[in-house]
Amino acid sequence: MRASRFTKSRGFTLIELLVVIGIIAVLIGILLPAVSAARREGNRIKCLSNMRNMAMAQWMYVIDNRGWLVQGGMAHGGAHANELATWFNTLNRYYNNKLVARCPSDTSVYWDQPMPGPTPQLRRTSYGINAFLDHDLCPWGPGFSAPPPGGLYVKIEQIRHASDVVQFVEMGYTGEYAAADHVHPNLFAFPTTPEAAIPVLVAGQMQSNAHGPRRVRASGDDMSNCTFIDGHAESARVRDIFQNLYVNRFDPAAPQPRP
Ligand SMILES: [Zn+2]
Ligand SMILES: [Zn+2]
Repeated sequence: MRASRFTKSRGFTLIELLVVIGIIAVLIGILLPAVSAARREGNRIKCLSNMRNMAMAQWMYVIDNRGWLVQGGMAHGGAHANELATWFNTLNRYYNNKLVARCPSDTSVYWDQPMPGPTPQLRRTSYGINAFLDHDLCPWGPGFSAPPPGGLYVKIEQIRHASDVVQFVEMGYTGEYAAADHVHPNLFAFPTTPEAAIPVLVAGQMQSNAHGPRRVRASGDDMSNCTFIDGHAESARVRDIFQNLYVNRFDPAAPQPRP
């Protein structure tokens, strides 16, 4: 009598345990993608906030410097080449060192390990400036054969459609531009590049899929964050910011892509 009562209250049978474990596994399977999607969305928002602060710092800079835009001030060598002169450090000093240099989604290994090359350098910022807005890096335009009508874009009043001109973007985690602090959008395409191949060239400089969708191959759907001269920041798809050399939101003289 006593023994059988003991047997009945022994606890879970093996089958019951397996069922419980199975249910937990299914729940984890359902919840994990939701958790990681929420984390990705959180990263996108944090990154947008980093970039909004940069855009705000840039506006304070413009107002204090009689309309002059912040300049890259360095060669194509990445932040290591002349860290003090990078636009990021100029703005950061200006903003009481409150700017955040790293996007929370940025998984580049070059933050800790120097990029291979003749002058090994580390990645110092997730963010780069549009070379059209830099005095030394600007390709002449439009069409890049003659200077822009009003001269190189160094002052705010030379930009006619401030809300349509990209200023800061997210830099590629790997490749030649991983330690640079600027992109050359005039190399996102050549006059003969087929439009389908353009997202691949964009992804060679920018981390154009920093915030979705997660896929290996570059496409016009890739999304990353950028700021515009008027001070706003947005998550933009490649096809909304760069259609080709003559229709894009990088060259201040070019018409912007229409959806
Ligand atoms: Zn360069
Ligand atoms: Zn980001």
